[in-house]
Amino acid sequence: MDWSHYIVPELGPDLKFSYASHKTVAEYKEAKELGIETIPVLIGPVSYLLLSKLAEGVEISFSLLSLLQKIIPVYKEVVSELKAAGATWVQFDEPTLVLDLDSDQLKAFTDAYTQLEESLHGLNVLVETYFADVPSDAYRVVTGLRGVSAIGFDLVHGEKTLKLIQNLGFPPNKYLFAGVVDGRNIWANDLSASLRTLKTLEGIAGKEKLVVSTSCSLLHTPVDLVNETKLDSEIKSWLAFAAQKIMEVNELAKALRVEKNEAFFSANAVAQASRKSSPRVNDKAVQEAASALMGSDHQRPTPVTSRLDAQQKKLNLPILPTTTIGSFPQTMDLRRIRREYKESKISEAEYVKAIKEEISKVVQFQEELDIDVLVHGEPERNDMVEYFGEQLKGFAFTVNGWVQSYGSRCVKPPIIYGDVSRPKPMTVFWSTAAQSMTTRPIKGMLTGPVTILNWSFVRNDRLRFETCYQIALAMKNEVEDLEAAGISVIQIDEAALREGLPLRKSEQAFYLDWAVHAFRITSCYVKDTTQIHTHMCYSNFNDIIHSIIDMDADVVTIENSRSAEKLLSVFREGVRYHAGIGPGVYDIHSPRIPSTEEIGDSINKMLAVLEKNVLWVNPDCGLKTRKFSEVKPALANMVAAAQLLRTQLASA
Ligand code: GLN
Ligand code: ZN
Repeated sequence: MDWSHYIVPELGPDLKFSYASHKTVAEYKEAKELGIETIPVLIGPVSYLLLSKLAEGVEISFSLLSLLQKIIPVYKEVVSELKAAGATWVQFDEPTLVLDLDSDQLKAFTDAYTQLEESLHGLNVLVETYFADVPSDAYRVVTGLRGVSAIGFDLVHGEKTLKLIQNLGFPPNKYLFAGVVDGRNIWANDLSASLRTLKTLEGIAGKEKLVVSTSCSLLHTPVDLVNETKLDSEIKSWLAFAAQKIMEVNELAKALRVEKNEAFFSANAVAQASRKSSPRVNDKAVQEAASALMGSDHQRPTPVTSRLDAQQKKLNLPILPTTTIGSFPQTMDLRRIRREYKESKISEAEYVKAIKEEISKVVQFQEELDIDVLVHGEPERNDMVEYFGEQLKGFAFTVNGWVQSYGSRCVKPPIIYGDVSRPKPMTVFWSTAAQSMTTRPIKGMLTGPVTILNWSFVRNDRLRFETCYQIALAMKNEVEDLEAAGISVIQIDEAALREGLPLRKSEQAFYLDWAVHAFRITSCYVKDTTQIHTHMCYSNFNDIIHSIIDMDADVVTIENSRSAEKLLSVFREGVRYHAGIGPGVYDIHSPRIPSTEEIGDSINKMLAVLEKNVLWVNPDCGLKTRKFSEVKPALANMVAAAQLLRTQLASA
């Protein structure tokens, strides 16, 4: 789980906090006027600081937690306004309690709530933790916080928390909010299992003090299953979106307090059983093939340096080769064509013709710009995960299953419900069509298994890595088909590899190990002369650089333009790197056209720390959100900068 999906506050020693937005209070009042009593939720003061970062130029030794003194008074103001508005509860989200915190960080919680204690008087105060287990030292701290009358735990993603509560006990007179209904996934709850957990907790916290809850906020699930008109009733019976989850919470609470709704529980049991045994879910052959992969290592037989030599003989590229990340502008026309095809308003032949025309336009466009390794532009794809999911077995799609991702951006993740396999080639047709239009190499374009996994709702009846290996197997077959069809450069995007990194350090190595392994499965069976690229949407990977090297791709292109220094520092610090690398030379997220000079500077900076014969020149991500009128001058300047530097390097 990645927490980067929020706007990260940038703080420093000179900062002055003041009470600016009264949103929480306004919303509390709004609900109250409608007759609904709510618990106002605030990000807890310590998590707020721990999830912030140092503003530019601030000494690295500056402790963000030293700002606690300054921020607590603002929290007091908010709390007193809430009280005045009639609130009887307030919730502080302190999800950082599940991280590996040192004793100073833990002490900050004790300090913060001690300082708040007086102002909290007369309120019920809930401190919520979520997304993972609370480590035992943090558990001791959170259960001992002053002024706090309730503590919430994620009992879905915190698999060890139940044991911890059993072993360490729970303070008398505090409420225990038991997050037994998964707030981050879309599966119907196993109600009888949850009821067992709740009964155990009731024995510890007491009947009056146990509160049934979701594991975290419902921000991460779509709103309501009733909006799904295209899913069949069997699959629907396995799912629960936010509205259904609230019902589950209610029914669980009723079963504890009043009486069990037998009909609801037995329908749930039937659905659970059908999901377990459904032939749509289970594919023995896939299970066996994927688990056979797990045991053995997957390594390309030849080291990367020799592979690059072999590839160069075949591809004959100039130094500082230029390329793009895959997609080209998605015009209104294109979207219309895809939609009309989906709605059967145009025939397959018409669709193919239109897409081929677009590919031809994009190929020609790149040739005119004199780019070295071309792409087909991805005009047939709505989304880099959905496109593959739609062609793989084991995936289902919602029509309205939107969830918030970055700020106001929303995504509609596919649902992986069964064993994954690839009935037939998925990209070979388009890639070979593109290759037939040019003598320059066309890069086959795939989404990697880890990214497909991380950007989908994943099964909870299998371990994540098991599903990932199944996807890897499907993508491996696709890579081999592309190679056999004459595509000699294949990019396997792992845009979201870093997003799956577990929060706790102790679990990170294991994740990185299987994630890298899954990627290698897709790519290790190709010939030395086939060049494997990968692309990542994060430059912030200094901490996982060794895993990236381990992926053993021939060329890695990465988002870099917005934090070039950070990336360069990795190499300055002596990380040995032999594969090709293309740190993005300009930011595609902005419509601004970078000048040749600016791009040249950026390449020069990289040349200072990287060998010239491993460096690639490319934008930092796909171009699909840009306009052709922006892309054309930007790429022209990029190519000009690369060509200029080639001449300079040749004469040096
Ligand atoms: N190949 C994809 C594209 O160019 C990669 C997108 C991404 O990294 N998010 O759009
Ligand atoms: Zn990207």
